[in-house]
Amino acid sequence: MTHRYIEVAIGALPQRFHYHLPAELTTELLQLGARLVVPFGNRVQIGFFVRYVDQPDIVKTKAILAILDSPSLIPSKLAKLIEWVANYYCSHIGIVLAHAFPKNNLHKIRRRLSLTNEGTAALHAGKIKSETAETIVTALLKGEVLFETLRAKIGTKNMTTALPSLRKKGWVKQRWDFESPPEKRKNEVKETLDVFRKDTAILLNINQQEAFDEIAAALKKGVFSPFLLHGVTGSGKTEIYLQSVQTVLAGGKGAIILVPEIGLTPQLFNRFFSRFGKEVAILHSGLSASERYEQWRRIKENEAHIVIGARSALFAPMETVGIIIVDEEHDHSYKQEETIRFHAKDAALVYAKLHHATIVLGSATPSLESFHNGKTGRLRVLSLPTRVNERPMPTIQTIDLRIREQWVLPFITKPLVAAIEKRLERKEQTILFMNRRGHTPALLCGDCGQKWQCANCSVSLTFHKQEKKLLCHYCGFQQSAPSVCPKCQAARLIYMGAGTEQVEEGIQTLFPSARVLRMDRDTTARKGTHAKMISTMEQRDADILIGTQMVAKGHDFPMVTLVGIICADLSFGLPDFRASERTVQLLSQVMGRAGRGDTEGEVFIQTFQPEHETFRYLSNYNAFCQAEQGFREEAGYPPFTRLILLILSHTEEQMVAQKANQLASILKQSCHRLGVTVLGPASAHFARIRKEYRYQILLKGKDHVRLKSALKKGLLDFNKTDLKGVRVIVDVDPQSVI
Ligand code: ADP
Ligand code: ZN
Repeated sequence: MTHRYIEVAIGALPQRFHYHLPAELTTELLQLGARLVVPFGNRVQIGFFVRYVDQPDIVKTKAILAILDSPSLIPSKLAKLIEWVANYYCSHIGIVLAHAFPKNNLHKIRRRLSLTNEGTAALHAGKIKSETAETIVTALLKGEVLFETLRAKIGTKNMTTALPSLRKKGWVKQRWDFESPPEKRKNEVKETLDVFRKDTAILLNINQQEAFDEIAAALKKGVFSPFLLHGVTGSGKTEIYLQSVQTVLAGGKGAIILVPEIGLTPQLFNRFFSRFGKEVAILHSGLSASERYEQWRRIKENEAHIVIGARSALFAPMETVGIIIVDEEHDHSYKQEETIRFHAKDAALVYAKLHHATIVLGSATPSLESFHNGKTGRLRVLSLPTRVNERPMPTIQTIDLRIREQWVLPFITKPLVAAIEKRLERKEQTILFMNRRGHTPALLCGDCGQKWQCANCSVSLTFHKQEKKLLCHYCGFQQSAPSVCPKCQAARLIYMGAGTEQVEEGIQTLFPSARVLRMDRDTTARKGTHAKMISTMEQRDADILIGTQMVAKGHDFPMVTLVGIICADLSFGLPDFRASERTVQLLSQVMGRAGRGDTEGEVFIQTFQPEHETFRYLSNYNAFCQAEQGFREEAGYPPFTRLILLILSHTEEQMVAQKANQLASILKQSCHRLGVTVLGPASAHFARIRKEYRYQILLKGKDHVRLKSALKKGLLDFNKTDLKGVRVIVDVDPQSVI
């Protein structure tokens, strides 16, 4: 008998598993993502159908036990996106599928036993000899019974001896199904509903109207229409998103709105919720498994047609997508750096094309890629050059940190203190930005020069004063803070630099009665704390907000009239081709938080390099892009070339160096004649992370298809060699190459 073989993905395992369909299940036509019950080891598991195969990898395939979804719960266009992501980013389809579904362990697999007519007849005819078999059959007389219930009654041993033969004789049959998690009675969305005040569309200004008209026209046409909405901070981009989504909903389609970070979802959610109410769902990895399932279900069952979330919201089970909005499109958080290394913005563009939808990439500081695509016409550029209601952009003042006489406390200068004082008097708010958490980023013995490095990584440990600990920001390694040098016993320890904790300490010393909030990874680790800080700011129950890049993004606090950048230099000088782009974007974003209300804003930039060219571009982003483009073209970097980064890692440096050399020479062969350049191997910028040494190889080429085929061929040959436990990560279109 010939079987119908299938490939199944199990959990998020990166292997493929082959099974066959038993005769009674061959009639169904399976689609990608259909959930199946499969035997796996000595357990049963839920797996995803991937594809039909002609020739299985193994000789003796097992039969699947049941099909749970037919048709698959994955809409067909989403299935195509999932395939694209797996293929383009060299990931495994099972991992991408697992990403698209709420966690499976919410569904209980049930195995149910029942008596066949033959079984009943056999019992009445006295054909059942063994006592155990008779107990089983009698228990099933009244109808279907759960396997577990029966097992509890008669014991595992009796069950395993008697049941197989009863099934073989055709007297007992079994079926599989699963129980969905109970619908949550309370959830975020419905709770907010109680305080629901509906707001209505704002009358757009001329610039907004022009931009909106173009989007509306594209929506009407129903063809793939990609836009870049380049609007300065506070220019009213969100209002355009809201009105575009309104148009999409009226046309009976759905909308996906992506934000770069979970932290930004509540704010945007509130704005959408007050306009669209229950139509809005929220999806991101910060939700608990059951919350996530509930949101997913509401989208799947057409209760919600708008989904807001971070990267994973793209995989929402929406049937017809009319618009995708990618807010703060330049943000590098759109690139996922673990499990699947995919770029949500690029995937969104592909997905919009599949849906013949409109896509709006919005930003005050577009990525160089989008700027370039705007120039070449691949994106249609919509500009909002001014803030709403003729509000001016904030004024900028640079403060030279080299003049020590200006320092009141470390990194806090006289002009900044005076400016904060003024805000406190006027009951306005201040944001202070310091792109480093902890108290002090480096510790040094003043006598012998001993430095404190992480035991697992080649990075120095950061001093966290409140916790009295030295912490590694890469792997979490920690040790208690020393009071004397362990090497020379000297008590003269030098603390170098500052982090948010030290800034907070200084500000609180200078302004003891000010209400100060600190927002960084340490203070927002607990669920809900980040959202709480935002609402405290909104309600003006805080005077000064100090934080890392978390304070830079997206927030709209109208009472913030002062932004202080404590040390702008922190972002300079990383050996990455995107370093200056990031710096300009980040500083522009922070500055954009000032003066969004009726009072004009002021920005103070403290720096050791006031002459640094970055500052020239802060009020002219287009000039920056123009200059940066020239540099990228000359140096052969994106958007003028495509890159693939390979990262090899192993606990022994020699091993990883050796394999990296081998892979590089194999790749040089496969890249030969394809116009692909192989750079490296070289030790990574952070040479050791989490006990593993890391080496990198960079592939560079003009044509993505050639780049990919060179890579595939090279990896195929490399995987035939003894890998000696060296891990290889493939990063397609890397955001960072250090
Ligand atoms: P962006 O997203 O571009 O930073 P927002 O959409 O947050 O800007 O708008 C900034 C503020 O201006 C918001 O409080 C918003 O409600 C308000 N706003 C937007 N459009 C208008 C308009 N046409 N007239 C008046 N206020 C507006
Ligand atoms: Zn570490």
